[in-house]
Amino acid sequence: MSRITIEDKMKTIYFDNNATTQVAPEVFEEIGPYFCELYGNPSSMHNFGGQVGIKIRQAREKVAELLGCEPGEVIFTGCGTESDNTAIMGTLSAKPNRRKIITSRVEHPAVLSVCRQLEGQGYELVEVGVDSAGRLDFDAIEKQVDDDTAIVTIMYANNETGMVFPVERIAELCAERGVIFHTDAVQAVGKIPINLSRSKIDLLSLSGHKLHAPKGIGVLFVRKGTRLTPFMLGGHQEGGRRAGTENVPGIIGLGKAAELAMKNFEEVNNRIKRLRDKLESAILQNCTDSRLNGDADNRLPNTSNISFEYIEGEAILLLLDKYGICASSGSACTSGSLEPSHVLRAMGVPFTAAHGSIRFSLSRYNTEDEVDLTIAKMPEIVNRLRELSPFVAK
Ligand code: PLP
Repeated sequence: MSRITIEDKMKTIYFDNNATTQVAPEVFEEIGPYFCELYGNPSSMHNFGGQVGIKIRQAREKVAELLGCEPGEVIFTGCGTESDNTAIMGTLSAKPNRRKIITSRVEHPAVLSVCRQLEGQGYELVEVGVDSAGRLDFDAIEKQVDDDTAIVTIMYANNETGMVFPVERIAELCAERGVIFHTDAVQAVGKIPINLSRSKIDLLSLSGHKLHAPKGIGVLFVRKGTRLTPFMLGGHQEGGRRAGTENVPGIIGLGKAAELAMKNFEEVNNRIKRLRDKLESAILQNCTDSRLNGDADNRLPNTSNISFEYIEGEAILLLLDKYGICASSGSACTSGSLEPSHVLRAMGVPFTAAHGSIRFSLSRYNTEDEVDLTIAKMPEIVNRLRELSPFVAK
């Protein structure tokens, strides 16, 4: 059986941070004692459990500080998907007379599949589109929000292109018209500033493993006064809003990750953006028939989605993998065939380009050397695959 050694790990160049991130060493150190030493149940009456309860309270305060909200507005969940599902289902059951849901065609499946299932159950679903640069059609939302709308759910930033959507403007529009607004901010938190104290957003989802906390911990922000039917019923945890014994290491880890994210926020994200820009512009310049999927502006600082005409994204990934470079492609395997992603299709990216798309997503742990090595390898990989491509005239 093959095992990944420490040396292999050291060779890995990880540009797939929108898929998941490395747990920060400081986070790992912080959560260590909560497995075998301080393993009490935070709900217990004894002091052993009570100490854990105090750490959970502190973690909640840190997350609230990162988001600019009240600690009481933070509900810990099991993941970003659970937060998204709860926000949508919980709002609908709190407003059963309203039958319209508004979302976008480029949401993550954690939102889109819930909305489509609800459409199958009789809800009216409006999916607004994006333009060829991945920019959201705000006017379409403005036209659709009405008295029958139960919820508008639009992501803060897209996971594939990194495009940032005008969610604050949409939240204001919804507030003016008395409609609940939820945003999936799983990709945005920690990468761009978010301040919920100056916002009209009612509900917001985030996920720990996208910001250097462990997997299996999420948050749903619910603004004070927002009616929400709990999704998980049982014990009184999270103020009765999300039952189930808390994922103590996950919560404490997320608290630490939030604290780290706030440290030198601007400086860290500017550095990531500089590396991303260097990688992106060199690839676009050195690889023929390549194009950026997304707008130069209004993008997360860490994400770059590039299409390479006439070749398969999966083939690029395999060759990158030989050098230990991890990225991801814009196709998904559906019933045995590779389908271009729904996001690139919504942008109208031509089939030949959508198939050859690669997403590079960086984090604070990436270095200039890693970027330079990838810049050096990409033209070689692309040219080699083009030589084999049946779509290129020889
Ligand atoms: N929403 C977005 C935009 C995502 O990118 C992801 C994960 O990739 C999710 C939701 C789901 O989060 P989780 O993996 O924590 O369930």
